[in-house]
Amino acid sequence: MLLYIHFPFCRSKCAYCDFNSYAGCSDVLVFSYLTALKREIGFAGERFSEGKIDTVYLGGGTPSLLSPGEIESLFRKLSSNFKRYSPVEVTAEVNPESATEDVLLAFRDAGVDRISMGVQSLSDDNLKSIGRVHDATGARRAAERIARVFGNFSLDIIVGLPYDTPSLVRDEVRECGNLAPHVSVYELTLEEGTPLAARAERGEIWLPSEDEVAEYMELAVDVLSEAGAERYEVSNFARRGYECRHNIGYWTREEYLGLGAGAHSLVKTSKEGKALPAEIRFASPKDINAYIGGINCVGSFDDVPRAEMTALSPAEIRAESIMLGARTREGFPESLLSGRKFGRVEEFLRREKGRVSLTRRGMAVMNSVLAEIM
Ligand code: SF4
Repeated sequence: MLLYIHFPFCRSKCAYCDFNSYAGCSDVLVFSYLTALKREIGFAGERFSEGKIDTVYLGGGTPSLLSPGEIESLFRKLSSNFKRYSPVEVTAEVNPESATEDVLLAFRDAGVDRISMGVQSLSDDNLKSIGRVHDATGARRAAERIARVFGNFSLDIIVGLPYDTPSLVRDEVRECGNLAPHVSVYELTLEEGTPLAARAERGEIWLPSEDEVAEYMELAVDVLSEAGAERYEVSNFARRGYECRHNIGYWTREEYLGLGAGAHSLVKTSKEGKALPAEIRFASPKDINAYIGGINCVGSFDDVPRAEMTALSPAEIRAESIMLGARTREGFPESLLSGRKFGRVEEFLRREKGRVSLTRRGMAVMNSVLAEIM
């Protein structure tokens, strides 16, 4: 089972961010949140006492805002409450301005063996335009600090930012690929309701066109391949052996348990050790106070109020397996296509050893391919 822990606090809110994260919160609120989170961990440990924890991912928000003492106590709670806690990978997300040596050492001492840092860009103009609180030099220094403590770490870059040019993207992706064994490259998504979307709507910023962003992504694939990092998912690149096992688990639809405000879970059902076709997806309330209140007024995992609870039908499970698998190098089982062939779209599909994956050109037009084969 994959375990996701959400820490939803940030120093300030980035202009493009649509994640469940909050800035400017009081220490009292953070304390109350961590208390509720530990209570939920206790409930989950009882409820899933037979569940083996294979990977852990502490995401946010900005988990590097936790103090060394809070990091130690959070991970102690995890390892002491899950009976079968033996993760093969434990990732913590950090941001450059708070990835101090003390925090990194505290993560390492608590059992974290993989760091994922949001760099987003190595252009100060870009970083300023999207409201990041660090500059490019700060990101480089943080990456060097991480490399001194962790052999396994990832750097995130966003392409499609206001000041992106082909040479900027090539240089920053190359630099990240030379520094880190894993790089994630995401295309900027303008999420409705964010300050960046509002500024774009008002014509106050210029953003690259879809074609330009596609070109940047292709550049990233080439540059990272030269640096020895292979694309193993549409946005993720790693040197062999450094692929993120936790995220691979999501794409292959393993069971996952998400704890914390807004966290999602996927739990599969079984009877007498045999898997049943029913799968349940549920999520906690996104609002921090609603989450804390909900946890504090119940006494067991099954009573925790949920913002969402869905039983997935076989058709939904099949559709998800295709959609997620198509994002990955390994693809999905060919049997999910029930022997169908797709005319023009076939040229974007690779069928090998009973699996179907997208070719490089197929990845570039993934949405159209999926629309055809689903
Ligand atoms: S640091 Fe990450 S989670 Fe926090 S506001 Fe920025 S993008 Fe959102």
